[in-house]
Amino acid sequence: MKTSRTQVKRIPKRGHYDQETVYSILDAGLICHVGFAMEGQPVVIPTAYGRIENQLFIHGSPASRMLKSLQQGIEVCVTVTLLDGLVLARSAMHHSMNYRSVVLFGTAELVSDREEKLKALYAFTEHVMPGRWAETREPNGQELQGTTVLALPIEEASAKIRTGPPVDDAADYSLPHWAGVIPLRMQVGEPIEDPQLAAGIGVPTHVERYVERSVGMANSLKS
Ligand SMILES: Cc1cc2nc3c(=O)[nH]c(=O)nc-3n(C[C@H](O)[C@H](O)[C@H](O)COP(=O)(O)OP(=O)(O)OC[C@H]3O[C@@H](n4cnc5c(N)ncnc54)[C@H](O)[C@@H]3O)c2cc1C
Repeated sequence: MKTSRTQVKRIPKRGHYDQETVYSILDAGLICHVGFAMEGQPVVIPTAYGRIENQLFIHGSPASRMLKSLQQGIEVCVTVTLLDGLVLARSAMHHSMNYRSVVLFGTAELVSDREEKLKALYAFTEHVMPGRWAETREPNGQELQGTTVLALPIEEASAKIRTGPPVDDAADYSLPHWAGVIPLRMQVGEPIEDPQLAAGIGVPTHVERYVERSVGMANSLKS
């Protein structure tokens, strides 16, 4: 995965190139940012994604400019960023953030085979909400036809990770300013029932699990 494009040059000790690290960040994220050039104009578009082994899938309307452009086989750069904390230093200049991020280069391919497309949409749905696919109506032929799915190989990728306290200049450690880390986590709220929900349907187990797991993670940050 380490190439001349993915080699982390700024603070190289924060760079990682192994599959396990890259996949773990991709699997923990919910959105990616897709960067590409259109007639010389750089564009970066946020979108959701899924992963099966070494392929990242994005999907959307066939009218999407992003999906139409990427189908042409142009070079694309996808990033995923997980923000883990605000790092407050004694000096203004040494403030930072704790994060895990991935930068991925490559070219995307159209997924046109029906079964492959369904697999990709399954992976996409399960990535966002594990257990969801089994408890929803599957896409029908018309919906499948009206959805473009693209696959991007996860081959040329780098991860960059910052953890830990601030790093101040030696002389600044005696300054009377508070320094440390404020952990950050996306907050998950209580599920809000659709006002049009049919009678007698309770919150399903996979949704309860998602909320419980997320609240558990938030509590472990406090302790
Ligand atoms: C939440 C967050 C906040 C940040 N804030 C700042 C900031 O305020 N100022 C600042 O200068 N930098 C910041 N960074 C770091 C920033 O992402 C770059 O790593 C850094 O600016 C160096 O950029 P460069 O183009 O010189 O990298 P280079 O090291 O020249 O990049 C070479 C290659 O390394 C890899 N790479 C570089 N950065 C990353 C990354 N973040 N994740 C995965 N692979 C990477 C890519 O493959 C890239 O092509 C932040 C990162 C995150 C995730």
